[in-house]
Formats: sequence, C-alpha cells, structure tokens
Amino acid sequence: MKLHEHQAKEILAKYGLPVPEGRVAFSLKEAVEVAEELGEFPLVVKAQVHCGGRGKAGGVKIVKDMEELKEAVEGLLGTVLKTFQCPEGKPVNRVWIEKATAIDKEYYLGITLDRSSEKHVLIASASGGMEIEEVAKEDPTAIITEVIDPVVGLMPYQLRRVAFNIGLPVKEFVNIGMKLYRIYEELDASLVEINPLVTDKNGGIVLLDAKIDVDDNALFRHKDMEEIEDKSQLDPLEVEANKYGLNYIKLKGNVGCMVNGAGLAMTTMDIIKLAGGEPANFLDVGGGANVEQISNAFRILTADKDVKAVFVNIFGGILRCDRLAQGLIEAVRNVKADIPIVVRMEGTNVEEGKRMLKESGLNFVSADDMWDGAKKVVELAGRYE
Ligand code: GDP
Ligand code: MN
Repeated sequence: MKLHEHQAKEILAKYGLPVPEGRVAFSLKEAVEVAEELGEFPLVVKAQVHCGGRGKAGGVKIVKDMEELKEAVEGLLGTVLKTFQCPEGKPVNRVWIEKATAIDKEYYLGITLDRSSEKHVLIASASGGMEIEEVAKEDPTAIITEVIDPVVGLMPYQLRRVAFNIGLPVKEFVNIGMKLYRIYEELDASLVEINPLVTDKNGGIVLLDAKIDVDDNALFRHKDMEEIEDKSQLDPLEVEANKYGLNYIKLKGNVGCMVNGAGLAMTTMDIIKLAGGEPANFLDVGGGANVEQISNAFRILTADKDVKAVFVNIFGGILRCDRLAQGLIEAVRNVKADIPIVVRMEGTNVEEGKRMLKESGLNFVSADDMWDGAKKVVELAGRYE
C-alpha cells in the first residue's frame, strides 16, 4: 500500500525528522487557508498522486504570491496528472502546500528490500533529484548500497560511511538515517524513499520528498494505515477484484488470463510471451474457486478494453473441470462477452467439462495443452502494439 507524500511527511515529522512545514488541502478554499496559516511566500504546491516524476510533469509548482498559488492549485485539483512513471495518469484530489526550501544540493536516500541479497538495503547517492533513474543506468557507481544485517539492523557506522562518501554532515545524517530505518521497521514498509534529500543554503539537511510503501501482508497490524489509503489512486479493476478476494494485477497487453494458482498464473504469462503475445493481466482465481468467483473474475477481466482474447488455464483439482465449465458458461452468458476464449483445462472430470463447453454454443476454443493454448490465444488476440 502506498502513502501519499503528505501522509509520509506527517509520519517523518512525528519522528522528529526535518521536513518543510506544510499542510494538505482538498479545495482551493482550503489551499488559501493553508497559505495564510503558513504565513509566507514562496510556497511549493505539490500534486498528491501515487506516482513519481511529478516535477517533470508540472505537478510541483513554486509560487511567490497568493495569485500564483491560486493559479497553481486550480491547475492541479480535479485534473489527471500523467508522468513518465504513470503514463495512464492519476487523479489529483489533494495538494500539499509547504514552505519552499532554498536548495543547495540534491541527494538520494532510500531503504528497501533487495530480493537478490534477501536483505533490507540502504541506498544513497550524491546525484539525487529528478534524474536519479538516468544516474542509476548510466553511472551505477554513483549509487552506494549498504546491506542491512537483519540481526543487528542498520548500524551507525554504515551511515557514517555513507555520509563521508557522499559528503553530508555526518552527525545529522546518521540521526536521519537511523530514524528512517526505525520508520521502515515499525511501519513494516517495503520502501522509504527520500528523493531529493537536500542541503539548504544554511547547510542543514531537509527531506524534500517522501515516499513510503507499506507491505500489504502486514496491513493487518496497521489498520490505521489501511484507513488512510486513497483508493482513487488505484486501478478501479484492481479495487473491484480485491472485493472478491481475487488476486488481479492489470498489465499492459491484450491477452486476458484466468488461472488458478499463482505459480500457474506466472507460467501462463511466460508462455504467452514465449508465443509472441503480451498478457493483459495477472489473475489468480484461487484453488477453491466456485462458479460465482469464476463469474466475477471473468467480468473484471473482460471489463479491460484492451483484452482481445482470453486464455483460461485451469488445473482442476479442488475446482473440478465440470464446475469450471459451468462457471465459464454462466459468466460468458452474463457478461455477454463475444471475444474468443481459449480454454486449457486438466484434471478431475476434464472430459465432462470439455463436452459442456463444446455443447454450449459459445465462443470457446479448446486447447490440447498449455503451449497449444498459448499459441491459439496469441493468434486470436492479434498483434499487440
Ligand atoms: P517528484 O518529481 O514527483 O519526485 O517530486 P519532488 O517532490 O521530488 O519534486 C521535484 C523537484 O522539484 C525536486 O527535485 C526539486 O528540484 C524541486 N523542488 C521541490 N520542492 C522544492 C523547494 O522547496 N524548493 C526548490 N527550489 N525546489 C523544489
Ligand atoms: Mn521526488
């Protein structure tokens, strides 16, 4: 689960970290009140969206008087902000307004989970700011990584080493790093990212941007976090799928996938790619899926306008193939989908299931095995541009 910058900054401030003084506003009226409360210009108006790259997309504006502030807020609230990280765009329903910082230099500081070392890592760079992606690609040596030992946690000497390396005031940086790691642990975060962390004209450190992702698997012990999630930032189909306990992730291709079991779902996406196609989603309907579950899954899957053909790849164990066939037939009738549906199923009562699909008179294409199904569905979906 992602937090907004303003929510993250409120947490940072609670831990005593140096963030610019600011407030969130949901309307122009509130924005003006915030500006009056802050009582000085220049201020920075920042679109609150679950998406990085706002600076380059016009989502961060420095304003020097009330007129400019109004103009900036009006130009952001109610719009959809598209950035290079989210070409599809995210709705702006709130802005964060803070006192502007006189930046001396921009740095990068992040803590995240490194899957290859299976440990948390602290990542830092003296080349922070909006070009960090390019830096990582073109000059990886400019990125410093400290692997965190899970037994002892992040150690002050590691932060001292980083501070010397990238040229930041040591004592202050160690204090900030230790607090960020505490937040990372206490929130069960999978990411705490400060980009940029800056030095200001007085030589002090300021955390100018903040991104915190909380691990969804730990949300049961962070109910307060769950409550503040801004659902408008999520894909509507993912929100809908979530309601039914379906594990659905929207992707960019045109082959819809309906699979039981996460492992088989991953394999299905791989084999679609191998056949030259592009999966439109990941969807695990679960091992014990029933007719209703299949119907919901199918409706959500085909609500995606990019889907040109569907690949149903089910191993009928707990979910018998005849029940699956029944669910599919009902779902297709309910949704009135007229796109081709390639079905590969295997397992209990498979012959009965196949017979039912064949006799339904609907647009089902039977596949002999996974590879056969992948080739057929990619062909039916057509070229993906
Ligand atoms: P992002 O592009 O979504 O990551 O948004 P950021 O919050 O990181 O802001 C983008 C850029 O705007 C930063 O890298 C800064 O260069 C600039 N910026 C943000 N806040 C201030 C500020 O208070 N003063 C100045 N001078 N620049 C700022
Ligand atoms: Mn940033």
